[in-house]
Amino acid sequence: MPAVSAAHTHAADLADFVAASPSSYHAAEEVARRLEEVGFTRLDETAEWPEQAGGRFVVVRDGAAIAWVVPADAAATTPVHVLGAHTDSPGFKLKPQPTTGSRGWLQAAVEVYGGPLLNSWLDRELRLAGRLALADGRVVLAATGPLLRLPQLAIHLDRGANDGLALDKQTGTQPVWGLGDAESADILAELAASAGVDAADIRGFDAVVADAARGAVFGKDDAFFASGRLDDLASVHAGLVALIDAADSADSAVIPVLAAFDHEELGSESRSGAAGPFLEDVLVRVYASLGADATTQRRAFASSWHLSSDVGHSVHPNYAHRHDPVVQPLLGSGPILKINANQRYATDAVGAAAWAGWCETAGVRSQEFVSNNAVPCGSTIGPITATRLGIRTVDVGIPILSMHSARELAGVSDLYDLSRVARAFFAG
Ligand code: ZN
Repeated sequence: MPAVSAAHTHAADLADFVAASPSSYHAAEEVARRLEEVGFTRLDETAEWPEQAGGRFVVVRDGAAIAWVVPADAAATTPVHVLGAHTDSPGFKLKPQPTTGSRGWLQAAVEVYGGPLLNSWLDRELRLAGRLALADGRVVLAATGPLLRLPQLAIHLDRGANDGLALDKQTGTQPVWGLGDAESADILAELAASAGVDAADIRGFDAVVADAARGAVFGKDDAFFASGRLDDLASVHAGLVALIDAADSADSAVIPVLAAFDHEELGSESRSGAAGPFLEDVLVRVYASLGADATTQRRAFASSWHLSSDVGHSVHPNYAHRHDPVVQPLLGSGPILKINANQRYATDAVGAAAWAGWCETAGVRSQEFVSNNAVPCGSTIGPITATRLGIRTVDVGIPILSMHSARELAGVSDLYDLSRVARAFFAG
């Protein structure tokens, strides 16, 4: 079955991508690095940009990256087809004065980032990763190997642990990373050493904790793929693979765009988040180069699409009652179209029809997701960008289990199928 082997190749490549992307900053950089390797030009937002027609470009803003391909014959009214996703995942972020400790242990002071399943972070080897702003003005990426661990209290010392584990968000979440005296240790020195810089030169840092274990395929027929940060690197990676593939078909009727935003887990409100101006800032410059004025740019937007891709929930066999009683997407049965009456997802009838068309072109079967009325629905970047730019938006993704766990579970075939639909979407 060639489709299976292609899906497993895709999953192995995703494992590489996740390993190279322990923080949003690394993910944005990895997107740019891979694209530059296949001939994309990296642009600087502070510089003048070259003629857009016929080019392929990528720009990184903090932990976000936007990449696009402009057909040689693109006009001022050529629509964009944007695949949106996010580079951040729930977890922990280093606090200021991060080196702490007690009773002979070295610990790291961390703040909770987004809404992680706290218990899933227990008893795993963890990396520290992010960016360092240095005294000489440089900003460098840094990532350690396995360094930290959040050890669970033994059952002998907490006989009630299996009756409902409660972790205090402050006192229960501070990982250990060594033995010794906190006065004479510095966790930032570990990060600095990993980047080959001097800790004394650090003026600022954004550093998060990530699972050190690599993504892996397992289960009957190797159908499962478990990894940290599938939410939402699975979508970023699918879009990246599709964009690289689409870049070589120059006669596209649309401008394919990959928009990988940061800060979705916090609500997207930042200069690199989906609620910020990043995408619009890029599109304004692309269309200006194509000779668009404000009116023609609006005409292009009016025929454009945003495929907002983020993970969704597969039905869980032990908790099926938490799902809608009828609509129960299953991991391994295709990407999902997300629907919510209250616009927590932007999908509407027109979007559903467009999605069905792209799936048909790709030869991919798709499923639907809708919440149980008694369980509040999550949200994602789709409704935010639709509100911000007025571009028609469809919310989609792959079904997973263990969302917001340190290690989530996806279906190998879904990961590959999402990238195939993305490829059809980019073709117009
Ligand atoms: Zn997400």
